[in-house]
Amino acid sequence: MNCALCDEVITNPLCPCCLHEEVRQWLLEEGHERLAAALDAITSSLVKGGQTRCLMCSGPMGVCAYCYTRDVLELVRHDKRLLERNIEYFNFDLGHLGWEREARAYLDE
Ligand SMILES: [Zn+2]
Ligand SMILES: [Zn+2]
Repeated sequence: MNCALCDEVITNPLCPCCLHEEVRQWLLEEGHERLAAALDAITSSLVKGGQTRCLMCSGPMGVCAYCYTRDVLELVRHDKRLLERNIEYFNFDLGHLGWEREARAYLDE
């Protein structure tokens, strides 16, 4: 089953809901309630079911961790400190899509 957004095979199946919990917790710990609320909206827009089963919760998923964390990246990119932490904690670059390169380009802006 390929990701509904990037059409790559989902090799590291962690669903948006499971990732959401971790990212949300992190944003709250950092004191960003507003971003955590924005994250809720992002996650619900990406939860559409699918043929792949999540490793953690066994729920159906159709969007890969890369695409999800890429949206998270967009959410925090205006804040360089958050962006750096985001690269550290949630780097799901699968080695061929350039997620980290893109994130570091934002840091250099
Ligand atoms: Zn994807
Ligand atoms: Zn899950």
